[in-house]
Amino acid sequence: MITINENYLKLQDSYLFSTIAKKVAKFGEEHPDKKIIKLGIGDVTLPIAKVCGDAIKKATDEMLQKETFRGYGPEQGYDFLREKIAKYDYEKLGVHIEKDEIFVSDGAKCDTGNIGEIFGNDNVIAITDPVYPVYLDTNIMAGRTGNYDEETGKYEKVVYIPTTAKNNFIPELPTKKVDMIYLCFPNNPTGTVLTKQELAKWVTYAKENKAIILFDAAYEAFITEEGIPHSIYEIEGAKEVAIEFRSYSKTAGFTGVRCAYTVVPKELKAYTKEGKEVSLNSLWNRRQCTKFNGVPYITQRAAESIYSEEGQKQIKENIAYYQENAKLIREGLQEAGYTVFGGKNAPYIWLKVPEGYTSWEFFDYLLETVNIVGTPGSGFGPSGEGYFRLTAFGSRENTIEAMERIKNIK
Ligand code: PLP
Repeated sequence: MITINENYLKLQDSYLFSTIAKKVAKFGEEHPDKKIIKLGIGDVTLPIAKVCGDAIKKATDEMLQKETFRGYGPEQGYDFLREKIAKYDYEKLGVHIEKDEIFVSDGAKCDTGNIGEIFGNDNVIAITDPVYPVYLDTNIMAGRTGNYDEETGKYEKVVYIPTTAKNNFIPELPTKKVDMIYLCFPNNPTGTVLTKQELAKWVTYAKENKAIILFDAAYEAFITEEGIPHSIYEIEGAKEVAIEFRSYSKTAGFTGVRCAYTVVPKELKAYTKEGKEVSLNSLWNRRQCTKFNGVPYITQRAAESIYSEEGQKQIKENIAYYQENAKLIREGLQEAGYTVFGGKNAPYIWLKVPEGYTSWEFFDYLLETVNIVGTPGSGFGPSGEGYFRLTAFGSRENTIEAMERIKNIK
């Protein structure tokens, strides 16, 4: 008899985006005259930069010629891209990363999800709460979380670290010993960041407890303030305890192109049950070579193109467009009397819902009164209750109109 991985049965159905879609569709049918503005999803809307389009066309022409055609590439990514990453994403921060510590992939979602495969199933995981759901769900699938408790909305073996207005969105170190720590800064969904000192505390904790930090820096390109780390490796000693995930999705509008990378430093070690040290770089390399055949050559050329002077200029124009939207949302909401967080170093604005509302009730209220769609905070974890996420990825016109509508609520 064929059996299943029963851990999958422990997953809670993700009602979040399907429920939103259903509610919005119903409202649209009942009010066909209303223009609904969607500021809910975390997908980009501007086209990719011209340099990327040109690189794609050039690489396509190469693929059409016998002399320049490419078949399977290196599983870890082409040197031309890994060298640029090391030089432009890290050297400029004063961080030395070797090219064979960089693994190019088709997404940070896959990487943050797949990385768990190289770790033992007895490890205790810690997630900040609210959180990007992939970290939790992939650990449920792997069997690390135990069962779901309906009452608390939590999995029994997971250490949840609340990041809310109460602690200024600065997660506190766990009191219980943990092994795998997921940190995402700039954060999705709260849009908040950590300073170097705050991040350094986690690096120290990981060293002292022989733990690993899985640092998701998918939104680093949105950082505007000085002193906010773009990479965890800006913290002394982090190469011994952290894996970093980066993505071109939001940096270069590649949500549909698909390219990302993961840095696994050679200093990074984990242990067998007997306490023998093992290199995580070799394990991840082995995993990727076995299960992954590399990102398309054409895509990697597109990613490479953003590192030219012109490429940087073009992607920064797109990021600046979203940053301006974020500012408009932040300021618009503040003018309307809301308490808002994030939006300065991230494309997400996290607002406190008014007294007396749950996150979902506020969702309904905004949809019905001003026809604006956002995302209820409770969909990102128990500590997201009472909050609401808006994204800066809409068009400028819609962003301005949305804020006008909210300001004019009587
Ligand atoms: N990490 C975070 C925190 C995200 O919010 C997202 C996308 O929304 C991803 C990773 C996924 O990135 P990618 O498109 O590279 O898979």
